[in-house]
Amino acid sequence: TTPEHENVDVVVVGGGPAGSTVATLVANQGHRVLLIDKETFPRYQIGESLLPSTIHGICALLGVSEEVADAGFMRKHGGTFRWGASPEPWSFSFAVSPRIAGPTSHAYQVERMKFDEILLNNARRKGVEVREGCSAVEVIDGGQRVEGLVYTDREGTRHEVRSTFVVDASGNKSRIHQGVGGTRTYSDFFQNIALFGYFTGGDRLPEPSAGNIFCAAFDEGWFWYIPLSDQLTSVGAVVNRDSAAEVQGDPRQALARLVDKCEPIRDMLKNATPVTEGPYGQVRVRKDYSYINTRFWREGMVLVGDAACFVDPVFSSGVHLATYSAMLAARSVNTVLDGLVDQERSFQEYEARYRREYGLFYEFLMSFYDMNADDASYYWQAKKVTRCADSELESFVGLVGGVASGEGAVLGAASVRGKVAAASGELACSAAAVGADGAVDGATPLFQSSIVSDVMREGSRTQAQALFGEALGDTVPMFPGGLVPTADGSRWAVPEE
Ligand code: FAD
Repeated sequence: TTPEHENVDVVVVGGGPAGSTVATLVANQGHRVLLIDKETFPRYQIGESLLPSTIHGICALLGVSEEVADAGFMRKHGGTFRWGASPEPWSFSFAVSPRIAGPTSHAYQVERMKFDEILLNNARRKGVEVREGCSAVEVIDGGQRVEGLVYTDREGTRHEVRSTFVVDASGNKSRIHQGVGGTRTYSDFFQNIALFGYFTGGDRLPEPSAGNIFCAAFDEGWFWYIPLSDQLTSVGAVVNRDSAAEVQGDPRQALARLVDKCEPIRDMLKNATPVTEGPYGQVRVRKDYSYINTRFWREGMVLVGDAACFVDPVFSSGVHLATYSAMLAARSVNTVLDGLVDQERSFQEYEARYRREYGLFYEFLMSFYDMNADDASYYWQAKKVTRCADSELESFVGLVGGVASGEGAVLGAASVRGKVAAASGELACSAAAVGADGAVDGATPLFQSSIVSDVMREGSRTQAQALFGEALGDTVPMFPGGLVPTADGSRWAVPEE
């Protein structure tokens, strides 16, 4: 039986990718971790198209690479876009990037019911106490710091857990994120409504793109078309919030109406049948407004994944940001629990790095949407992305591959490091393209932002480190006065002078 009052080092709320990742990486260091989720797994979730950094970086760190590789998920080699005026779709392949060459140049399209359960069961195996069917009610606010959590179990019994940290990984519907003392700021730019359902028997793109995500813009927004298996396809329309009224009625009819208006999707679905039963049998509607919290942490509490921020789904960055932030937060938690660096400094490092990664995607996506804003300029903008110089395409792929953050530990997770080093010849090209001073040759607006060039500079430095066999830990902080990851990536350290 569960004690009514208990003490742990860390209580994690939410067993999605963010929660399972942070819980596992903290438990791996011998700390006592309790994770609760209000659902019983497997549970449905949207967010099926993943990026290579999650698969080859985070999954390797968690020790689930093999299980994920053997789960039968659809291999994703890149993305195919029909974006704007040109009728011809164009594709990018993760393999174009020398940073993620060879065996690591793919990701998966995953059924989240399966993927999230793999990560959660792995957390359990690594020593995390997992309780399903348990809902967070409120944090215990001790004034100076958050001191624990109140939750209810399946029977509705209230429990109190005292902890050094509460990690909020409960996603966009978090009830407790305000426990850190901040509020959510919504983006004016990305205010969409998504409407999505499942089909069997939809067409596949020709090889080698059959496993790609296909995104098609049309007058009212854009569609995703994600092959989850040979038979099953996830199809979603992302439309402006002004269309809310239209999609609120009967979502299935609304989706059918939108499919009809988007020729490439209509065409792909010409022989398909909507799924009407089981977990994939509904057409669901979700606001996917982008937001970011004004604070990510407070003494005793931290927000990770969607609980902290979310940005538009067009480049499949959600699970990457969730698991990447979870890895960063685990470092901060481990560092403080071991008494190595004070809490303020340790969590400022977390927040700064997560905001930076989020900002990178945010700016990139804004530019991407901007291409579609005006037909006259769109055509040329789109051409620039597809026909841009190799250096730009590599930068683009590095960005959507989620490895541009310069994270030694993500990129350098044991299995990946050797492969990166093996790509040494290509790396030389990449370094040349990025430039000795780190400047990115950015003829397209996509690559002119200072955030992108900063990140590229950091990325190329870390690549060189991995290539020349130095310690995985970065020696130069990302921010002035900041911290660096330890060689094993599990904690932060004060850089040596
Ligand atoms: P979640 O996956 O939301 O997990 C949170 C967990 O917390 C859930 O299991 C929930 O049951 C639990 N929980 C919630 N409240 C409580 C509570 N009070 N007590 C206990 N437990 C609680 N991302 C991609 O990478 N690729 C995509 O293709 C993609 N497409 C998307 C399309 C749309 C329309 C949207 C809206 C998002 C998309 N995303 C995509 C984003 C992706 O869904 C999220 O970024 C990702 O699931 C975040 O992971 P997380 O672990 O932070 O939260």
